[in-house]
Amino acid sequence: MSGTQVIEQARTQLAHAAKLLNLDPGLHEVLSRIKRSVIVNFPVVMDDGSVKVFEGYRCQHNTSRGPTKGGIRYHQDVDLEETGALAMWMTWKCAVADIPYGGAKGGVRVDTKKLSKRELEKLTRRFVSEINMIIGERSDIPAPDIGTNPEVMAWIMDTISMQVGYTVPGVVTGKPIPLGGSLGRVEATGRGVIVAAHEACKDLNMDFAGKRVVVQGFGNVGSIAALLGERDGAVIVGVSDARGAIHNPKGLPIEKLFHEFSGRDGGLAEYKECDQISNEELLELDCDILIPAAIAQQLTAQNADKVKAKLIVEGANGPTTNEADNIFSDRGVLVVPDILANAGGVIVSYFEWVQDLQNFFWNESRVNEELESIMKRAYDGVRQSRDTYKTDMRTAAMIIGVKRVADATLTRGIFP
Ligand code: NAD
Repeated sequence: MSGTQVIEQARTQLAHAAKLLNLDPGLHEVLSRIKRSVIVNFPVVMDDGSVKVFEGYRCQHNTSRGPTKGGIRYHQDVDLEETGALAMWMTWKCAVADIPYGGAKGGVRVDTKKLSKRELEKLTRRFVSEINMIIGERSDIPAPDIGTNPEVMAWIMDTISMQVGYTVPGVVTGKPIPLGGSLGRVEATGRGVIVAAHEACKDLNMDFAGKRVVVQGFGNVGSIAALLGERDGAVIVGVSDARGAIHNPKGLPIEKLFHEFSGRDGGLAEYKECDQISNEELLELDCDILIPAAIAQQLTAQNADKVKAKLIVEGANGPTTNEADNIFSDRGVLVVPDILANAGGVIVSYFEWVQDLQNFFWNESRVNEELESIMKRAYDGVRQSRDTYKTDMRTAAMIIGVKRVADATLTRGIFP
């Protein structure tokens, strides 16, 4: 998978929605470009005294509906094109959820497994210092993504606060609770994925309880989706991490895997009371619901025919290629797209930002209730758009997102 393919995937989806919306070609051109991108190369003194240079990016796609928002990813495959595509998807996601942000994304090309904690902290603080001219609590608010977590968000908040001379909790979301983080943020994306799965089950006239679920990726999104799915009565028959996948047709003990195996060096593969399989085999397992929650471009023209699930709920960003989408559509597989299914994270990030700006904090049940209500409202909107345009859920969601951003752009007018 290359970043060029990912941005192509994002632009093809936009073109499809633009055509159905009869969008003005100039406006389409505006929306297909990334408004602002910063590329930085910066040094870090490693623990052994040597100096290593890392490349990082921050891309802001669109600011018509508000400040930009989007995660920071640490991964060896991060590049400018992929970061731009992820920023574009964030724009549509915020618009589909109807929260007042445009999309952004950032990343550093690094394999965090090769860094000590001290090196990770130094890399984070230097990276943030290099992009500090474009991030800010009123302009662009980062959050966690692959390879980053609440601790990294704390370093980001502290670095910006040290530079301006006072504490700025609203500059980043996904922070630890004592630093202005929101209750419920860690679980928010996985929780939203399960709300979307329940809604999709209603569309398919089936009960969520008792369904066999496969989850690819056992990080923040995948593990919480698996845990909450199991709590709601689903049987999680397969899960995976980057090292491999495990399978038990009778169900895997998700609580146990979460507490005892997810943090281990050997990963889930150290759990032995199951079959060890590959990530490729995992996606083709016999199941009812598939939740890809790892990385992009996992469901492709090569395996889409072999996927047995009747429902795919995209926890990850961009896990399904456009070719695979067409195959699923022909086969009648319902795909709940990323810009709807995984919006829970940015929705609760929005709650966190609001709480930080007001210095007034909510209890967890309020966070979860408001999250569920926005997810259901967004799902309902996409359902209606699907029926109006007689199309699939991804196109229906894109139509809503692109239309809201296009309307905002036109209403504001093109400066000057
Ligand atoms: P994470 O780093 O916490 O977890 C990623 C998981 O995927 C890990 O278990 C890792 O081992 C696994 N993985 C990595 N490469 C893999 C591969 N090639 N095959 C199988 N598994 C692999 O990241 P996360 O925050 O859970 O994010 C997962 C996905 O969800 C990403 O696409 C991210 O953009 C998307 N997402 C995350 C959030 C959020 O709030 N964290 C919000 C919206 C979307």
